[in-house]
Amino acid sequence: MPFRDLVNQSHAVMLLRTAARSGRVSHAYLFVGPAGVGRYDAALAFAQLLNCERPQENDACGECRPCRLITGGQYPDVRTVDVERGLLLDPRDTTKTVIGIDQVRALRREVAFPPLEGKYKVYIFAAADRMQAEVAANSLLKILEEPPPQVVIILIAESTVPMLPTVVSRCQLVRFSLVAAGEIEQALIARHKLDHGRARFIAAIAGGQLGRAVTWATSQEDLEWREQTLQLLERMESADLLERMDAAEEASKDKDRLPDLLDLALFWFRDLLVWQETREEVHVINLDRKETIARLAAALPGAVLSQRIVAIEEAKEDLRRNVHPRLLLENLFLRFAPPVAEVPSS
Ligand SMILES: [Zn+2]
Repeated sequence: MPFRDLVNQSHAVMLLRTAARSGRVSHAYLFVGPAGVGRYDAALAFAQLLNCERPQENDACGECRPCRLITGGQYPDVRTVDVERGLLLDPRDTTKTVIGIDQVRALRREVAFPPLEGKYKVYIFAAADRMQAEVAANSLLKILEEPPPQVVIILIAESTVPMLPTVVSRCQLVRFSLVAAGEIEQALIARHKLDHGRARFIAAIAGGQLGRAVTWATSQEDLEWREQTLQLLERMESADLLERMDAAEEASKDKDRLPDLLDLALFWFRDLLVWQETREEVHVINLDRKETIARLAAALPGAVLSQRIVAIEEAKEDLRRNVHPRLLLENLFLRFAPPVAEVPSS
């Protein structure tokens, strides 16, 4: 995708476009920032701009042969290297590799040759900060020490801390940041034709990661999971002890979903509280559940909702401390119990 399709990251984009326009392209870049914010898309956009046959307004056209092949991971001069797996056939699918880790070392020989058909050879190293193999890091360093002409190395990392300082110091640093929820929401509506209700919820649960948002927006499985989870939270209002335990056991089976489940529960009770206090849709995340939110907000005291929010925050902390998922959820679901009616003292 060309730069114009990236959401936010204007600082990084400006830096790269300026380099391309002025012809002062560095031999090596280090894209640092959280996962899912567009680091890889920016690397492809840069590779496109450097090799595009018909650049327009200092951006790739997105349609010429190099542009199309780069997007599809099929351009001979733009290669993605996954440091743990070797060269990737399709850069978006890390399960499909054509060459193993040994061949990463062979890269050193490959980079010395001029581009096959493009203007620049671009090597993108995904997860460069997980390059634990000393050998791989050292081969990379060798390339960076004697950079061949017309070769651009792009290292993608979440942090520079685990990387060899000698590698970091040879790269131009390009920082990427989390994307604001409002921008993700707008992008989902404009590009993925989502309605406001779903876009608001997905932008919230994406936590600043556009990549995560797009996955949510395009996955039927994720949407069904959200439906089931919201129904579960509604059921908690009338569930007895046994039902709570059963629900906890069931939900704990999908450990990978646990962070999302806690986020979703957090947004849900926040929505109830926010609705109680403001009655303004603009603050509601689960906009498509307005009626249920209004009904429950009228039935549950604000203090109870606040306690539940605290309970979820504590569960998140438990998750970080590796508390067993089932215990964590049992504890949490018990704390979602409806308020006990006060027994009038006689
Ligand atoms: Zn093009």
